[in-house]
Amino acid sequence: MKNSTAITLAALGTLGVAGLGYALYFDYKRRNDPTFRKKLHREKKKAMKQQEEKEKLVQSQLVVSVERALDKALVEPFPTSREDKERMFMEHVAQGEAAVAGGEAHYEDAAVAFYRALKIYPDPLELIMIYQKTVPKDVLNIIMGMLSQDVKRRQENYYNTFPPEDMHVKIQDLSGNVDKDQPGKRKVVVAQQDFAVGDIIYSESPEVSILMPSVKGEPYCDFCLHAIADPTTQQTCDNCDVVRYCSTDCKDKAYEENHRYLCPGNVSDPNPVAQQLYDTWADRRELAPLLIAKFFGHMIAVEKQKQLAGTEGDYTVWERLEHLEFLSVDGSSDDKGNQKAICELVGRKVSGLEDFMTEERYLSLKGKMLYNAIGVRAPTNDDAAPSMGASPASEYVRAAGTSDLVGAGIYLVSSYIKHSCEPNVVPTFPEGTNRLSIKVTHPIKKGEEITMAYVNVGDRPTEARQQELYQKYRFTCTCPRCTEALMGQD
Ligand SMILES: [Zn+2]
Ligand SMILES: [Zn+2]
Ligand SMILES: [Zn+2]
Repeated sequence: MKNSTAITLAALGTLGVAGLGYALYFDYKRRNDPTFRKKLHREKKKAMKQQEEKEKLVQSQLVVSVERALDKALVEPFPTSREDKERMFMEHVAQGEAAVAGGEAHYEDAAVAFYRALKIYPDPLELIMIYQKTVPKDVLNIIMGMLSQDVKRRQENYYNTFPPEDMHVKIQDLSGNVDKDQPGKRKVVVAQQDFAVGDIIYSESPEVSILMPSVKGEPYCDFCLHAIADPTTQQTCDNCDVVRYCSTDCKDKAYEENHRYLCPGNVSDPNPVAQQLYDTWADRRELAPLLIAKFFGHMIAVEKQKQLAGTEGDYTVWERLEHLEFLSVDGSSDDKGNQKAICELVGRKVSGLEDFMTEERYLSLKGKMLYNAIGVRAPTNDDAAPSMGASPASEYVRAAGTSDLVGAGIYLVSSYIKHSCEPNVVPTFPEGTNRLSIKVTHPIKKGEEITMAYVNVGDRPTEARQQELYQKYRFTCTCPRCTEALMGQD
């Protein structure tokens, strides 16, 4: 005999899990991650197998049922406060059970109630496992169908609301072929109006940024990357001497987002794990590990904020990052060590991170950082052609030159701007911080694609540009300048 869902839940004592639950598992985040999708896929397969035994007619009825049930489940808004969520959750579960007891005619209503409960439960995967044990198969099939349809609808709607209209650009498919595993792939940025040379199309702050190891010890703000002109005004950490900030505002924000996890401490109270991450940055000149650690801290801070504001339904930082393209990277023992270090540092304050931060996820994050990081330049050089010099880090960042880079950042909109050896925009940093402004360098017509240079293009020969692009970003440039040069050879 099947147990009641409510009794199983009570026995597990899992109701009202807060904090991490809402930060990492809540809502869609987990549904979009690869491990969860795999598990889901397995469940879907199982459900499909059972389905095969039935008539095709039943199948098509299920599809109709799923769409109808999902529409019904999403009509009413979801509660935002924790108390309301807990109350509504119990109500929905009770409604679902009552509907099940009413017989097959009420299964769709049962699925609607159970699905609404699932949407406000902090750990959806766990609840699905419980449903598997407690809910009739036919109801479960509808719930699973609703879940995948919901995720699909959400994915498809992403670019309808992003970027916001006031950024004057849209992200569009380059062709009809969008890789399902990499939803951001083959997407380009298109201007929504005409722009003249010198115009700023939009400005954007990074999700996360990092100083170049080459400026270690120099007076730059570790949070906004601003050059600290007057060292007497700089703010420092009370426990370590590796970071400095341009203002108390930056110091406070940095503490909330990352330094509370990443402070390497001092001689009498050291944190060797954090020290290891900073050493990797300073000595091995690697940006990715520290950038990923900072990203996690940032994500947790943002989701916590949204939880307080009751706006969790909005796309999460994780979902937004998932839409970006990435380079595939093979894992090394260093990666394992860094992954462990990040789990230990951030996980100390946020339990459950270890489950979330699998090796697969770490590597995909690393690939995102490597592909999308845009170099932050000193503002004084905005109009000068950036020169080449010693690379300030062992990894690459998108920049038309290397010598004047002070840092790098991950920008959610600008990441979509594709490379061209004849670009029509350049990222500039007029505020002297990591806030990026996209400045027009060639006239742009409404509907035209916006492009920037990922490497120094200058007057370098085609072969040199193509080689560097392939080595760093693994694509063969097909921009007009490259195409023309190749045609000329014939
Ligand atoms: Zn600052
Ligand atoms: Zn510190
Ligand atoms: Zn090219």
